[in-house]
Amino acid sequence: MTGIATDSCDLLVVGAGPAGMAAAVAAAPSGASIVVIDDNPAPGGQIWRDGPGAALPPAARKWRDALAAHANIRVRSGTRIVAIAAPDELLLEDAGGATRMAWRKLILCTGARELLLPFPGWTLPGVTGAGGLQALVKAGMPVEGERIVIAGSGPLLLAAAATARAAGAKVLRIAEQASFAAVARFGASLARWPGKAAQAVTLADAGYRTSSRIVSVHGAAQVESVRLLQGGKEADIACDRVACGFGLTPNTQLGQLLGCALAPVGGGTQALSVDARQATSVHGIYAAGECTGFGGSERALVQGAIAGHAAVGNERAAKALESERTRWNAFAAQLHRAFALADAIRRMPQADTLVCRCEDVPFSALVGCTGWTDAKLHRRCGMGACQGRVCGDAAQFLFGWTPPAPRPPLSPVRIATLAGLVDTADPVDARQ
Ligand SMILES: Cc1cc2nc3c(=O)[nH]c(=O)nc-3n(C[C@H](O)[C@H](O)[C@H](O)COP(=O)(O)OP(=O)(O)OC[C@H]3O[C@@H](n4cnc5c(N)ncnc54)[C@H](O)[C@@H]3O)c2cc1C
Repeated sequence: MTGIATDSCDLLVVGAGPAGMAAAVAAAPSGASIVVIDDNPAPGGQIWRDGPGAALPPAARKWRDALAAHANIRVRSGTRIVAIAAPDELLLEDAGGATRMAWRKLILCTGARELLLPFPGWTLPGVTGAGGLQALVKAGMPVEGERIVIAGSGPLLLAAAATARAAGAKVLRIAEQASFAAVARFGASLARWPGKAAQAVTLADAGYRTSSRIVSVHGAAQVESVRLLQGGKEADIACDRVACGFGLTPNTQLGQLLGCALAPVGGGTQALSVDARQATSVHGIYAAGECTGFGGSERALVQGAIAGHAAVGNERAAKALESERTRWNAFAAQLHRAFALADAIRRMPQADTLVCRCEDVPFSALVGCTGWTDAKLHRRCGMGACQGRVCGDAAQFLFGWTPPAPRPPLSPVRIATLAGLVDTADPVDARQ
């Protein structure tokens, strides 16, 4: 008796964001048995994150209803993929226990996470990611009356500001590191994507400043003020919270664990490599959405639909969507160009600024290291609870080091799950 349940499906979709939902719905008419796994409590991914502080938009409802309308789609929310159990079999964990899920085809729609970069004061309570602030507000964290400064780069800053303001916060400043010229060029290019232009208008904010970047955050026990550099001058702004976002990093861990190849997507970032059918380098495994490079929910939706059609052999339907994908790939390319991080962002950390906050490793301790392995072995960078998920991305940006290779389990896991896995016949790797 192992305590691990077993299950199987024709098509397993990991991630119930826009890409995963579109993939499952596209594949459903084939009649294949489809399982969609997501660690969030409800489908929607990052953009349509649910919670007591979230008002779900109609698009999110439409996709949830579409999932529910197909009897051959089973959605397992609150469930994480934690490891590979055997060839073509993944190990899942939820509140009730563990499951070995066998699949015939797999679509990875694992999205992206924020790139957090170190600067003096970034570990003070009250500093979060910009998307992190959104997630906290949607989960019900009260911010009414709080003075918030948002800094970093990209449209996510504006989306985070809108979420915070809708919850009653006073957003004092949105500091965008890109230049006015770059942002203006991006704004003008939106004529090619009218929906995006309309969205940009709704997000426009009087506190938005370009060529503006964070210098440091100050406070005794929590955030009291932030120092910004703008137009060559430093200015202090008293505030209660600072939210920072320097772009997104594709979540490639599960794909890498399964042997899928990576490819560069600009700005030193790597993503899962896919062909025209969204197939990865591993037979039977597809990938869609921001794990293949970030570019917005519309691109994730069309990529997901192509992957769903291709996975069940409907090549015609997949091909019919290629021109729409090209259109959104062009939008993604504009986004990358406009909000590319300036070299000044690499100079934010001071000698004593912590880069690895789990193991208290300062910037100065890493300067002489020859690469990630050297930093890990000799300075303990990435050896703490997050296992390099935060400092690995930061070190890649700051020093150009290859990020740490993922190791199972992908996230903290119950001992019973691991013990049960070793107990079962023919586990792929008993050391997991
Ligand atoms: C923090 C954050 C906030 C964002 N907010 C906005 C916004 O407000 N507006 C906007 O236009 N864009 C936003 N974006 C960009 C947005 O992510 C995309 O445009 C869109 O959601 C991408 O869709 P996706 O399906 O590729 O990935 P996602 O929406 O990220 O969905 C991926 C899903 O996979 C799940 N997952 C990943 N790994 C596992 C695993 N091992 N086991 C189980 N589940 C797993 C994740 O929990 C997630 O629900 C945000 C991005 C981030 C990182």
